[in-house]
Amino acid sequence: QPELAGDFGTLMVWADKVRRLKVRANAETPLDCTVAREFGAEGVGLCRTEHMFFDAARITAVRQMILADSEAGRRVALERLLPEQRKDFTEIFEVMAGLPVTIRLLDPPLHEFLPHEEAEFDEVAKAADVSVDTLKRRAAELHEFNPMLGHRGCRLGVTYPEIYEMQARAIFEAALDVAETPIPEIMIPLVATRRELELMKDLVDRVAKEVFAERGKTIDYLVGTMIELPRAALMAGEIAEVGEFFSFGTNDLTQTTLGVSRDDAGRFLTTYVDKGIFARDPFVSLDVEGVGQLITLAAERGRATRPDIKLGICGEHGGDPASIAFCEETGLDYVSASPYRVPIARLAAAQAALKAR
Ligand code: PEP
Ligand code: MG
Repeated sequence: QPELAGDFGTLMVWADKVRRLKVRANAETPLDCTVAREFGAEGVGLCRTEHMFFDAARITAVRQMILADSEAGRRVALERLLPEQRKDFTEIFEVMAGLPVTIRLLDPPLHEFLPHEEAEFDEVAKAADVSVDTLKRRAAELHEFNPMLGHRGCRLGVTYPEIYEMQARAIFEAALDVAETPIPEIMIPLVATRRELELMKDLVDRVAKEVFAERGKTIDYLVGTMIELPRAALMAGEIAEVGEFFSFGTNDLTQTTLGVSRDDAGRFLTTYVDKGIFARDPFVSLDVEGVGQLITLAAERGRATRPDIKLGICGEHGGDPASIAFCEETGLDYVSASPYRVPIARLAAAQAALKAR
């Protein structure tokens, strides 16, 4: 760990001796994972899969899949994406060998994946052998005024189950391909109800069975959920009947609890902080009084149903020292921060543990 050599490295060793919270990283590329490991991350707490589909070669297949009018049409497009997605996960599992990796199934605001330019429509039309007019009509039907409150997260998995099937297959095939078998933790985003998670877990379990039968080999894995909507926090007792772990998505949980857009917040929140309405920007440092209550309540309700439920946080707050102190007090198992904040998180976790002694 060259970056953490010398006195700072010594300090990290001391910190690791006293901290209780595990520290993972939010990482989605082999490079992010390598940096995270060098900085001492003990796993990946959030591998977002959206960006894996944005490169030019893949986006047309994604658009084709979303705009296909049949399951068969969607499967054709997904067949092209499966080998690429398998490679994404193989590379990540190789870098993270021996450590847990939480992979979140696709969670895009749908509009980011729809074609907008004429040339983009032309490309999909050619690939899918469908007229541009038909594609435009379908895209218009999917248009949303509030995409962040719309067809995203598991809502996409519920309406287009083939997408999550492809991702689950890629995860299991990759896990069986690498030399050191990982324990993947498959995470379902934006869950609000027990039934949503149950549908998605059934889908993942079914794909696991298929892949294990084909390969004649099984591996252990977990299926859990993000807790990032107030309803999910309130219903955590029921949701824990299905989910094997919870990861608090405090970016969305802050947005939906405060009713403040995470994308536009900067415009008035500085005034709010100046006037003392909020002590700090709640998207940076957890609103312990409000959002924190939901987390505490969800942790209690989740544990009441499943005493050994694994609890973590993967919103931006996972790398913020004041928020990490709250995570220690709440007894979470781990925080997950961006790779470059992992050392700070290790230190903050140690300080929080010392304070709690
Ligand atoms: C969150 O909502 O806190 C989260 C980690 O997910 P994303 O930021 O990708 O919505
Ligand atoms: Mg989120």
